[in-house]
Amino acid sequence: MPLYDYKCPNCDHLFEARHSFNESAPPCPKCQQEDVQRVILKAPRVAQGMNASVSDTGSATKEQLRDKWAEETPKLRKQLVDKLGEDVVNRNAPTLNTNYD
Ligand SMILES: [Zn+2]
Repeated sequence: MPLYDYKCPNCDHLFEARHSFNESAPPCPKCQQEDVQRVILKAPRVAQGMNASVSDTGSATKEQLRDKWAEETPKLRKQLVDKLGEDVVNRNAPTLNTNYD
C-alpha cells in the first residue's frame, strides 16, 4: 500500500498514512479533523530526477558524447584484451584504438 503525506488545515499537523489508492484520507490523528490536505513530499524528488535525466539525454552535446566515448571505450577495450588478448583485439576491433570523432 502506498504511503501518503497529509497536512491538517486545522492544526497544521503533518502526518503519513498508508492506505489503498481508492480509500479516502484518514482524519487528522491529532485533532480528528476529517478534511485533511494531501501533500506531496516525496514524489517531486522522483519527478525532478526523471526530468533531469530526460533533459540530460535530450541536450547531450557532441562534446559530451565524445567524452563518454573516450571514457567507455578504453574500458571496453581492456575487457576484450583481458578476454581475448591484445593481438586479437587489434586485429578484429581496430576502431577501439581510435578516438571518437
Ligand atoms: Zn489536525
